[in-house]
Amino acid sequence: MSANIATSVEKIAGKYNKNRNQLMDIVHDVQAELGYISEQALQAIAGELGIHRVEVQDMVSFYHLLSRRPQGKTVVRLCNAVVEKMHGMEDVAAAFEKAVGVSFGSVSADGSISLEYTSCIGMSDQAPAALVNSTVVPSLKKEDVPGLVESIRRGDYAKRAAETPQHAQVESNLIKRGEVVFAPMELGAAIRVAINKTPEEVINEINISRLRGRGGAGFPTAMKWDFCRKAEGDAHYVICNADEGEPGTFKDRVILTEAPDLLFEGMTIAGYAIGAKSGLIYLRGEYEYLYGYLQQVLYRRRHRDLLGENICGREGFDFDIRIQLGAGAYVCGEESSLIESLEGKRGAPRDRPPFPVTSGYLNQPTSVNNVETLCCAARILEKGGEWFAKLGTRDSTGTKLLSISGDCRHPGVYEVEYGLTVDDLLSMVGEEDAQAVQVGGPSGICIAPKGYGRRISFEDLPTGGSIIVFGRQRDLLQIVKEFTEFFVEESCGWCAPCRVGTTLLLKYLDKILQGRGAREDLVKLKELGNTITVMSRCGLGQTAANPVLTTLKNFASLYRARIKDTDAIPLFSFDKAIAISSEITGRQSTVEVE
Ligand code: SF4
Repeated sequence: MSANIATSVEKIAGKYNKNRNQLMDIVHDVQAELGYISEQALQAIAGELGIHRVEVQDMVSFYHLLSRRPQGKTVVRLCNAVVEKMHGMEDVAAAFEKAVGVSFGSVSADGSISLEYTSCIGMSDQAPAALVNSTVVPSLKKEDVPGLVESIRRGDYAKRAAETPQHAQVESNLIKRGEVVFAPMELGAAIRVAINKTPEEVINEINISRLRGRGGAGFPTAMKWDFCRKAEGDAHYVICNADEGEPGTFKDRVILTEAPDLLFEGMTIAGYAIGAKSGLIYLRGEYEYLYGYLQQVLYRRRHRDLLGENICGREGFDFDIRIQLGAGAYVCGEESSLIESLEGKRGAPRDRPPFPVTSGYLNQPTSVNNVETLCCAARILEKGGEWFAKLGTRDSTGTKLLSISGDCRHPGVYEVEYGLTVDDLLSMVGEEDAQAVQVGGPSGICIAPKGYGRRISFEDLPTGGSIIVFGRQRDLLQIVKEFTEFFVEESCGWCAPCRVGTTLLLKYLDKILQGRGAREDLVKLKELGNTITVMSRCGLGQTAANPVLTTLKNFASLYRARIKDTDAIPLFSFDKAIAISSEITGRQSTVEVE
């Protein structure tokens, strides 16, 4: 093993006290220093932590932002999500290939630049966008690319990026501020109210507000905190899920930029309520550009007695927050996968029960809450549960942050009261003639104009916050196919219904889009979609067929227009396969086909 690699790894592992649970941090740092995780680096990490190399390999191979292959000195990751393609991403990609001289998936001959595609990086409001190492380049135009590549090659880009705070460069596009998350706040006000109550009274205040988790599932927050508080363990943990990976979602990015204090205030109050001394915020790898900024906010809070020991003078109330950077895996948005990832493992979902509230991080009682939920909790303590419960609808109290993108004049983040109709939403964002609205991202619901009277709420149209508007000019079935490709790519592969089922869905969609679909294929698509939904082990698989199922239901005529008027056409064509093989090999088949 090269002495350089061994020395670097030893130093990095030492920085984290050789803590196996911080394998993610160690691997991030090794990759930053050595460029990629070579076999030698992998063995050195395993040796330092006293674990098998397979554990390190297993973890590294799982995440999109970690690499086992040599990369260019600068890695350009261009987002190829649906919204990016709608806004000219393919032209930008062609411009990159021309300027760098290689195709995506390759490294330039001089080793200076790698080109890679990546799924949604949380910039759909300023698409197309790319990550240049960890720096975000939003609103790219093909004309910008030659200059950008030149500046990367000269080294100016990295220098400029290091000098300018990135959070200030990315537009927040915060278009509508509501009364809860984006209202002005007084530092520490909510914490001071909380510590003058007992933890039980704090949970009761949340209960009065009827706050439900903002990630989409809508579990009552007070109930989660109560379960967690009552669960026995050596330690309790608060985890903030800042891994918004649903394509089209970017509202957490805006909270983290515009209202990080309210979030940290919410985490601190959660800590007080459940009896935790430690909080962890799992920041998606794509938002690494916010890491330093958030550390500064935490630093400032420690100096103002809002974190650390005896917070706000309350004897014995100790709480602090650590930021854990993720490494790119959509499934880590699922809370048990996120916990696995926080423990430095691949982010595969756990079997439940036990639920995290009794056995979560390090098998201790853990409350995992969404960024927005924690902000709401802080505001509830400041202004009261009854005040909050008056906003929104009966079953969906308060406000909801919507990240709106796609075919509309004013993409951005809107804080609205629950109960808003899709019609009102479309007027608000400047699109009066949408063909479809995707509520909740690819895992949500695709609704047609006849459903525009429906309301954003848990009782009607629940959403984690992603809203994508599709104009009349879009080929909706092509979009369904791309959403399905996303799920094929992001499936962790653990269970067959999701791993195999999503691939089969894709084959049927391909067949239909190529004009070889028949009536039977629509029946099979529906059956397969329902099987994947029912049989999959976690939320990813349980929602992966939604693009197909909801468009089959709401846009049946689009499918019917693409199929042939016949009962069945085989999915596999022997003749076609032979013809393709003959073309590739340059040989003629000797098989006689009757
Ligand atoms: Fe993994 Fe998909 Fe199964 Fe979830 S449903 S465990 S993501 S294979």
